[in-house]
Amino acid sequence: MTVTTARPVVDLPEPLLRIGGRARAASDGRTFESHDPATGDHVASVAFATAADVDDAVRAARAQVDGGAWSRVPGAERGRLLLAVADLIDRECERLAALEAVEMGKLYRDSVTGDIPCAAAVFRHFAGWADKIAGTAAIVSDVGPQRRFGYTLRQPLGVVAAITPWNNPLLIAAWKVAPALAAGNTVVIKPAEDASLSTLLLADLVAEAGIPPGVVNVVTGIGDVTGAALAQHPGVDKVTFTGSPRVGATISALAGSTYRKIVLELGGKAPQLIFDDADLDAAMPWIAMGSFYHQGQVCAAGTRVLVHESVADRVVDGLAAAARASVIGDPFDERSTMGTIVNERQLARITGYIDAGVAEGADLVVGGHRVDAPGCYVEPTVFRGHNRLTIAQEEIFGPVATVIPFRTTEEAVALANDTRYGLNAMVYSENISRVQTVVEQLRVGTVWVNGWGVPDPALPWGGRGGSGVGRELGRSGLEGETEEKTVHIGYAGVAAADGAVL
Ligand code: NAD
Repeated sequence: MTVTTARPVVDLPEPLLRIGGRARAASDGRTFESHDPATGDHVASVAFATAADVDDAVRAARAQVDGGAWSRVPGAERGRLLLAVADLIDRECERLAALEAVEMGKLYRDSVTGDIPCAAAVFRHFAGWADKIAGTAAIVSDVGPQRRFGYTLRQPLGVVAAITPWNNPLLIAAWKVAPALAAGNTVVIKPAEDASLSTLLLADLVAEAGIPPGVVNVVTGIGDVTGAALAQHPGVDKVTFTGSPRVGATISALAGSTYRKIVLELGGKAPQLIFDDADLDAAMPWIAMGSFYHQGQVCAAGTRVLVHESVADRVVDGLAAAARASVIGDPFDERSTMGTIVNERQLARITGYIDAGVAEGADLVVGGHRVDAPGCYVEPTVFRGHNRLTIAQEEIFGPVATVIPFRTTEEAVALANDTRYGLNAMVYSENISRVQTVVEQLRVGTVWVNGWGVPDPALPWGGRGGSGVGRELGRSGLEGETEEKTVHIGYAGVAAADGAVL
């Protein structure tokens, strides 16, 4: 455990709503409090948007699409503006990283090298799409008397409501804002109450880039008031939500009767399948990172470590060594390799799951406790156990890995699929035939082979089952920001000299 004595002064954006290009307080003046999980210090009193404020934000966004200025901005110009946002994110990289460290305890260094440049990359990727959004064309088969050909138009949806979690606030905001804007939509975004500030700064950068007022609006607030008002607002054409399955189900119900598009990016309980032919020396750092990175507060975390029985001891030892080598400490301290848990409530949830693991008879190999120091710190924890344990079935969202042995490839796949979730999986093997066979059978949205990392903006991201509905990123994510309109064109044909219709 390291402790820093000097913390940097973080330059906060105004903790106000961003509606129609104005920074303003909530209509009833209420705020909610943001605290630093490393020190308990008060960070900011943030505007708590009412339903009326949400309504204002949706109207501001609507005014830009229904014949408004944004609807007339050509794709190439939208692309140029998104590139400008990306450059401004790069310019403000350290400030954005500091905001995320001070609000939710992510390692400053990891944000500077990871989340923030990745968010800029998302804007650059979708900038390139903005003038290349096209439908398809088809010669329609001759049925009936009329000749026809057909094509599709891909048109903006209108107003996109985005609701985001605290664990990667800027990056997930970028996943939602960049493709929406590339396609010509406007956005009202509600960041998580534990980490609103980087999204507010993003809105300021969007304005500085020259994107018209009202195209991106931010309504900060508590989920079941501000978020619920946004999710059920009748002026919204799409709701894109990233967060817990519990709230995802609520959002679905709130938005359901309004027949709008919904994307739900929910939780995960990813398996890491480690076969006896894996290159363990190369794989072990990835397996440990998949278990402990960002204190396990990652939807894609691979906390079910399924291992061939012949290499189980090596993997347990490797994970335990990685856990023991962790330096848990202040997110701003260069020496720290693990920062804080987001808040006391989440920390209590994690230790509750650890207690459940012990109570259900799992073998605690290392860790298992809250760190005995001020701040929301917990030890990286490794259990040996089986797949029916509560710790192997429920998303903990903390650095708690359960190693589960298997004997055959079939058993490994069955264990991997024995979950209500279906976000992602990792496969470690040097045998390409085995890899491909296993990849085909996994019920997940994404598979990483011999590694683990951040979703790439060029490829779709999303889950199955309890991990959600729909895709973000990639071409399919972009197309999900459009309405596809089919056009049939009838034509009479041209009369030839002999009177036949050609
Ligand atoms: P959460 O569901 O508690 O909150 C997410 C957002 O929903 C927040 O902005 C919150 O204010 C809002 N919200 C809460 N109640 C609401 C309501 N009744 N109506 C509308 N909005 C409401 O999730 P969290 O704790 O912020 O994030 C952790 C969860 O997010 C984990 O389950 C994690 O797996 C998931 N997650 C998924 C992905 C992915 O890409 N699939 C990425 C990151 C996080």
